[in-house]
Amino acid sequence: MKIKTICVVGAGLMGQQLALLAAVSGFEAYCADTSPEALKKAEEFVAGWLPKQKAKGKITDEQIEHVNKSLHFVGTLEEAAKNADMVIEAAVENLAIKRSIFAQLDKIAPPHAILATNSSYLVSSKIADATARPDKVLNMHFFNPALVMKTVEVVQGPHVSDETVDAVVEVARAFGKNPARVKKEIYGFLCNRIFSVLTKEACYLLDQGIASIEDIDTAVKGAFGHPMGPFELLDMTGVDLEYNLGMERFRETGNLADRPSPSLTERFGRGDYGRKTGKGYYDYTKK
Ligand code: NAD
Repeated sequence: MKIKTICVVGAGLMGQQLALLAAVSGFEAYCADTSPEALKKAEEFVAGWLPKQKAKGKITDEQIEHVNKSLHFVGTLEEAAKNADMVIEAAVENLAIKRSIFAQLDKIAPPHAILATNSSYLVSSKIADATARPDKVLNMHFFNPALVMKTVEVVQGPHVSDETVDAVVEVARAFGKNPARVKKEIYGFLCNRIFSVLTKEACYLLDQGIASIEDIDTAVKGAFGHPMGPFELLDMTGVDLEYNLGMERFRETGNLADRPSPSLTERFGRGDYGRKTGKGYYDYTKK
Protein backbone atom coordinates (compact mmCIF):
# COMPACT_ATOMS: atom_id res chain seq x y z
CA MET A 1 0.00 0.00 0.00
CA LYS A 2 1.29 3.43 -0.89
CA ILE A 3 0.76 5.89 1.95
CA LYS A 4 0.24 9.45 0.72
CA THR A 5 -2.01 11.15 3.24
CA ILE A 6 -1.27 11.15 6.98
CA CYS A 7 -3.60 12.38 9.72
CA VAL A 8 -2.19 13.33 13.12
CA VAL A 9 -4.58 13.50 16.08
CA GLY A 10 -3.53 16.05 18.69
CA ALA A 11 -1.62 19.26 17.96
CA GLY A 12 0.28 19.40 21.27
CA LEU A 13 4.00 19.03 21.85
CA MET A 14 4.30 15.81 19.80
CA GLY A 15 1.37 16.16 17.38
CA GLN A 16 2.48 19.50 15.95
CA GLN A 17 5.95 18.10 15.25
CA LEU A 18 4.62 14.86 13.75
CA ALA A 19 2.28 16.72 11.39
CA LEU A 20 5.12 19.01 10.32
CA LEU A 21 7.47 16.02 9.95
CA ALA A 22 4.94 14.30 7.67
CA ALA A 23 4.49 17.42 5.52
CA VAL A 24 8.19 18.22 5.29
CA SER A 25 8.81 14.58 4.28
CA GLY A 26 6.48 15.01 1.29
CA PHE A 27 3.17 13.64 2.60
CA GLU A 28 -0.20 15.40 2.59
CA ALA A 29 -0.78 16.02 6.31
CA TYR A 30 -3.83 16.83 8.40
CA CYS A 31 -3.68 17.59 12.11
CA ALA A 32 -6.76 17.72 14.36
CA ASP A 33 -7.16 18.95 17.92
CA THR A 34 -10.20 19.61 20.08
CA SER A 35 -8.53 22.74 21.46
CA PRO A 36 -8.55 25.81 19.16
CA GLU A 37 -5.72 27.23 21.27
CA ALA A 38 -3.54 24.15 20.62
CA LEU A 39 -4.21 24.45 16.87
CA LYS A 40 -3.25 28.12 16.90
CA LYS A 41 -0.04 27.39 18.83
CA ALA A 42 0.81 24.57 16.40
CA GLU A 43 0.37 26.88 13.41
CA GLU A 44 2.62 29.45 15.08
CA PHE A 45 5.19 26.74 15.78
CA VAL A 46 5.27 25.74 12.09
CA ALA A 47 5.47 29.37 10.95
CA GLY A 48 8.48 29.91 13.25
CA TRP A 49 10.23 26.62 12.45
CA LEU A 50 10.29 26.90 8.65
CA PRO A 51 12.37 30.12 8.31
CA LYS A 52 14.79 28.93 11.03
CA GLN A 53 15.45 25.67 9.18
CA LYS A 54 15.77 27.54 5.88
CA ALA A 55 18.35 29.91 7.42
CA LYS A 56 20.35 26.87 8.62
CA GLY A 57 20.17 25.37 5.11
CA LYS A 58 18.30 22.32 6.44
CA ILE A 59 15.23 22.60 4.21
CA THR A 60 14.67 23.71 0.65
CA ASP A 61 12.23 26.26 -0.82
CA GLU A 62 10.38 23.32 -2.40
CA GLN A 63 9.88 21.71 1.01
CA ILE A 64 8.60 24.99 2.46
CA GLU A 65 6.21 25.37 -0.47
CA HIS A 66 5.02 21.78 0.03
CA VAL A 67 4.44 22.32 3.78
CA ASN A 68 2.51 25.55 3.14
CA LYS A 69 0.32 23.75 0.60
CA SER A 70 -0.05 20.34 2.21
CA LEU A 71 -0.20 20.81 5.99
CA HIS A 72 -3.70 21.48 7.29
CA PHE A 73 -4.66 22.15 10.92
CA VAL A 74 -8.35 21.36 11.40
CA GLY A 75 -10.88 21.28 14.22
CA THR A 76 -12.56 17.92 13.60
CA LEU A 77 -11.49 14.29 13.27
CA GLU A 78 -13.86 13.94 10.29
CA GLU A 79 -12.01 16.56 8.28
CA ALA A 80 -8.60 15.24 9.31
CA ALA A 81 -9.08 11.48 8.83
CA LYS A 82 -11.62 11.05 6.04
CA ASN A 83 -8.97 10.67 3.30
CA ALA A 84 -6.13 9.32 5.45
CA ASP A 85 -4.03 6.30 4.46
CA MET A 86 -2.55 6.39 7.93
CA VAL A 87 -3.35 8.06 11.24
CA ILE A 88 -0.84 8.82 14.00
CA GLU A 89 -2.65 9.52 17.25
CA ALA A 90 -0.79 11.88 19.61
CA ALA A 91 -3.54 12.98 22.00
CA VAL A 92 -3.20 12.89 25.78
CA GLU A 93 -1.83 9.75 27.47
CA ASN A 94 -5.17 8.43 28.72
CA LEU A 95 -6.51 5.01 27.75
CA ALA A 96 -10.23 5.91 27.77
CA ILE A 97 -9.60 8.97 25.55
CA LYS A 98 -7.43 7.00 23.16
CA ARG A 99 -10.01 4.18 22.87
CA SER A 100 -12.74 6.70 22.13
CA ILE A 101 -10.58 8.40 19.46
CA PHE A 102 -9.78 5.04 17.81
CA ALA A 103 -13.46 4.02 17.80
CA GLN A 104 -14.28 7.28 16.02
CA LEU A 105 -11.34 6.94 13.63
CA ASP A 106 -12.49 3.44 12.70
CA LYS A 107 -15.75 4.92 11.43
CA ILE A 108 -14.18 7.92 9.69
CA ALA A 109 -10.92 6.71 8.11
CA PRO A 110 -10.99 4.62 4.90
CA PRO A 111 -10.99 0.82 5.57
CA HIS A 112 -7.39 0.42 4.34
CA ALA A 113 -6.03 3.09 6.71
CA ILE A 114 -3.48 2.14 9.37
CA LEU A 115 -4.23 3.55 12.83
CA ALA A 116 -1.07 4.10 14.88
CA THR A 117 -0.68 5.49 18.37
CA ASN A 118 2.33 7.48 19.56
CA SER A 119 1.53 6.50 23.16
CA SER A 120 4.57 6.40 25.42
CA TYR A 121 3.50 3.33 27.36
CA LEU A 122 0.01 2.08 26.39
CA VAL A 123 0.29 -0.99 24.19
CA SER A 124 -1.97 -1.07 21.14
CA SER A 125 -3.71 -4.30 22.19
CA LYS A 126 -5.49 -2.17 24.83
CA ILE A 127 -6.87 0.00 22.02
CA ALA A 128 -7.17 -2.25 18.95
CA ASP A 129 -10.46 -3.87 20.01
CA ALA A 130 -12.14 -0.45 19.97
CA THR A 131 -11.91 -0.82 16.17
CA ALA A 132 -12.96 -3.40 13.59
CA ARG A 133 -9.43 -3.46 12.12
CA PRO A 134 -7.11 -4.67 14.91
CA ASP A 135 -4.56 -5.95 12.36
CA LYS A 136 -3.98 -2.32 11.35
CA VAL A 137 -3.67 -0.84 14.87
CA LEU A 138 -0.17 -0.53 16.34
CA ASN A 139 2.29 1.57 18.31
CA MET A 140 4.53 3.95 16.36
CA HIS A 141 6.50 5.63 19.10
CA PHE A 142 8.52 8.78 18.42
CA PHE A 143 10.83 10.66 20.80
CA ASN A 144 10.77 14.33 21.65
CA PRO A 145 11.81 16.47 19.81
CA ALA A 146 10.29 14.31 17.07
CA LEU A 147 11.64 16.55 14.31
CA VAL A 148 15.17 15.79 15.50
CA MET A 149 15.33 12.44 17.28
CA LYS A 150 16.10 9.54 14.96
CA THR A 151 14.56 6.59 16.79
CA VAL A 152 11.02 5.37 16.15
CA GLU A 153 9.78 2.19 17.85
CA VAL A 154 7.34 0.17 15.74
CA VAL A 155 5.66 -2.39 17.98
CA GLN A 156 4.04 -5.57 16.71
CA GLY A 157 1.37 -6.72 19.13
CA PRO A 158 -0.13 -10.19 18.57
CA HIS A 159 -3.04 -8.69 16.60
CA VAL A 160 -0.89 -6.69 14.13
CA SER A 161 -0.22 -7.96 10.60
CA ASP A 162 3.27 -8.08 9.06
CA GLU A 163 2.01 -5.86 6.22
CA THR A 164 1.04 -3.15 8.70
CA VAL A 165 4.45 -3.24 10.39
CA ASP A 166 6.25 -3.16 7.02
CA ALA A 167 4.19 -0.17 5.85
CA VAL A 168 4.85 1.77 9.08
CA VAL A 169 8.57 0.98 8.99
CA GLU A 170 8.59 2.39 5.44
CA VAL A 171 6.85 5.59 6.59
CA ALA A 172 9.37 5.97 9.44
CA ARG A 173 12.21 5.68 6.90
CA ALA A 174 10.48 8.24 4.64
CA PHE A 175 10.49 10.56 7.70
CA GLY A 176 14.30 10.12 7.81
CA LYS A 177 14.13 8.02 11.00
CA ASN A 178 15.74 4.77 12.14
CA PRO A 179 12.82 2.47 12.96
CA ALA A 180 13.37 -0.20 15.62
CA ARG A 181 11.04 -3.19 15.25
CA VAL A 182 9.78 -4.35 18.62
CA LYS A 183 8.65 -7.93 18.08
CA LYS A 184 6.47 -8.29 21.18
CA GLU A 185 4.38 -5.89 23.21
CA ILE A 186 5.98 -4.86 26.48
CA TYR A 187 5.14 -1.97 28.80
CA GLY A 188 7.39 1.02 27.92
CA PHE A 189 8.76 -0.71 24.79
CA LEU A 190 12.57 -0.45 24.59
CA CYS A 191 13.71 3.08 25.32
CA ASN A 192 11.20 4.22 27.97
CA ARG A 193 11.93 1.10 30.01
CA ILE A 194 15.60 2.06 30.00
CA PHE A 195 14.80 5.78 30.59
CA SER A 196 12.50 5.00 33.52
CA VAL A 197 15.22 3.02 35.32
CA LEU A 198 17.53 6.03 34.98
CA THR A 199 14.98 8.67 36.09
CA LYS A 200 13.67 6.55 38.95
CA GLU A 201 17.17 6.20 40.36
CA ALA A 202 17.96 9.90 39.76
CA CYS A 203 14.75 10.88 41.64
CA TYR A 204 15.59 8.46 44.47
CA LEU A 205 19.06 10.00 44.88
CA LEU A 206 17.56 13.51 44.87
CA ASP A 207 14.75 12.62 47.29
CA GLN A 208 17.27 11.05 49.71
CA GLY A 209 19.34 14.26 49.65
CA ILE A 210 22.34 12.38 48.24
CA ALA A 211 23.08 14.99 45.55
CA SER A 212 21.57 18.07 43.91
CA ILE A 213 19.63 18.17 40.64
CA GLU A 214 22.54 19.91 38.93
CA ASP A 215 25.18 17.48 40.23
CA ILE A 216 23.17 14.41 39.25
CA ASP A 217 22.62 15.78 35.73
CA THR A 218 26.25 16.82 35.34
CA ALA A 219 27.51 13.46 36.63
CA VAL A 220 25.30 11.43 34.26
CA LYS A 221 26.23 13.56 31.24
CA GLY A 222 29.94 13.39 31.96
CA ALA A 223 30.01 9.71 32.87
CA PHE A 224 27.88 8.28 30.07
CA GLY A 225 28.23 10.87 27.31
CA HIS A 226 24.48 11.60 27.43
CA PRO A 227 23.73 15.03 25.93
CA MET A 228 21.17 15.74 28.69
CA GLY A 229 20.87 14.73 32.33
CA PRO A 230 17.80 12.84 33.63
CA PHE A 231 16.21 15.98 35.15
CA GLU A 232 16.84 18.07 32.03
CA LEU A 233 15.18 15.28 30.04
CA LEU A 234 12.22 15.07 32.45
CA ASP A 235 11.68 18.83 32.04
CA MET A 236 11.73 18.44 28.27
CA THR A 237 9.41 15.43 28.01
CA GLY A 238 7.06 16.80 30.70
CA VAL A 239 6.79 16.23 34.46
CA ASP A 240 3.02 15.73 33.97
CA LEU A 241 3.60 12.94 31.44
CA GLU A 242 6.01 11.09 33.73
CA TYR A 243 3.70 11.58 36.76
CA ASN A 244 0.61 10.32 34.88
CA LEU A 245 2.55 7.34 33.56
CA GLY A 246 3.74 6.45 37.06
CA MET A 247 0.20 6.69 38.46
CA GLU A 248 -1.23 4.61 35.59
CA ARG A 249 1.44 1.96 36.14
CA PHE A 250 0.85 1.99 39.93
CA ARG A 251 -2.93 1.55 39.43
CA GLU A 252 -2.19 -1.42 37.19
CA THR A 253 0.41 -3.20 39.31
CA GLY A 254 -0.45 -2.02 42.85
CA ASN A 255 3.32 -2.00 43.41
CA LEU A 256 4.36 0.92 45.67
CA ALA A 257 7.70 1.12 43.84
CA ASP A 258 5.81 2.16 40.68
CA ARG A 259 4.38 5.31 42.33
CA PRO A 260 5.83 8.63 41.11
CA SER A 261 8.65 9.86 43.35
CA PRO A 262 8.07 12.64 45.94
CA SER A 263 10.02 15.22 43.88
CA LEU A 264 7.92 14.45 40.79
CA THR A 265 4.62 14.47 42.75
CA GLU A 266 5.50 17.80 44.38
CA ARG A 267 6.21 19.47 41.03
CA PHE A 268 3.12 17.92 39.41
CA GLY A 269 0.98 19.29 42.28
CA ARG A 270 2.36 22.80 41.75
CA GLY A 271 1.74 22.64 37.98
CA ASP A 272 5.51 22.82 37.33
CA TYR A 273 5.49 20.53 34.31
CA GLY A 274 8.92 21.48 32.92
CA ARG A 275 9.84 23.60 29.92
CA LYS A 276 6.25 23.93 28.73
CA THR A 277 5.17 25.76 31.93
CA GLY A 278 8.49 27.57 32.47
CA LYS A 279 9.41 25.55 35.58
CA GLY A 280 10.07 21.93 36.46
CA TYR A 281 13.28 20.67 38.00
CA TYR A 282 14.84 23.84 36.57
CA ASP A 283 13.51 27.39 36.27
CA TYR A 284 13.35 28.49 32.61
CA THR A 285 11.65 31.81 33.28
CA LYS A 286 15.00 33.41 34.14
CA LYS A 287 16.84 32.12 31.04
P1 NAD B 1 0.21 17.35 24.89
O1 NAD B 1 -0.57 17.47 26.14
O2 NAD B 1 1.25 18.38 24.58
O3 NAD B 1 -0.81 17.31 23.63
C1 NAD B 1 -1.95 16.53 23.60
C2 NAD B 1 -2.96 17.22 22.72
O4 NAD B 1 -4.07 16.34 22.51
C3 NAD B 1 -3.55 18.51 23.34
O5 NAD B 1 -3.33 19.61 22.46
C4 NAD B 1 -5.04 18.20 23.51
O6 NAD B 1 -5.87 19.32 23.28
C5 NAD B 1 -5.23 17.13 22.44
N1 NAD B 1 -6.41 16.28 22.62
C6 NAD B 1 -6.94 15.81 23.76
N2 NAD B 1 -8.04 15.06 23.48
C7 NAD B 1 -8.18 15.08 22.14
C8 NAD B 1 -9.13 14.50 21.25
N3 NAD B 1 -10.15 13.75 21.70
N4 NAD B 1 -8.99 14.73 19.92
C9 NAD B 1 -7.96 15.49 19.47
N5 NAD B 1 -7.04 16.08 20.26
C10 NAD B 1 -7.15 15.86 21.58
O7 NAD B 1 0.83 15.87 24.91
P2 NAD B 1 2.14 15.33 24.16
O8 NAD B 1 3.31 15.48 25.06
O9 NAD B 1 2.18 15.87 22.78
O10 NAD B 1 1.82 13.75 24.12
C11 NAD B 1 0.92 13.21 23.18
C12 NAD B 1 1.09 11.71 23.12
O11 NAD B 1 2.43 11.42 22.69
C13 NAD B 1 0.90 10.98 24.46
O12 NAD B 1 0.30 9.74 24.23
C14 NAD B 1 2.33 10.81 24.96
O13 NAD B 1 2.45 9.68 25.81
C15 NAD B 1 3.07 10.59 23.65
N6 NAD B 1 4.49 10.93 23.67
C16 NAD B 1 4.92 12.06 24.31
C17 NAD B 1 6.29 12.36 24.32
C18 NAD B 1 6.80 13.58 25.03
O14 NAD B 1 8.04 13.70 25.20
N7 NAD B 1 5.97 14.54 25.45
C19 NAD B 1 7.20 11.53 23.64
C20 NAD B 1 6.70 10.39 22.97
C21 NAD B 1 5.34 10.10 22.99
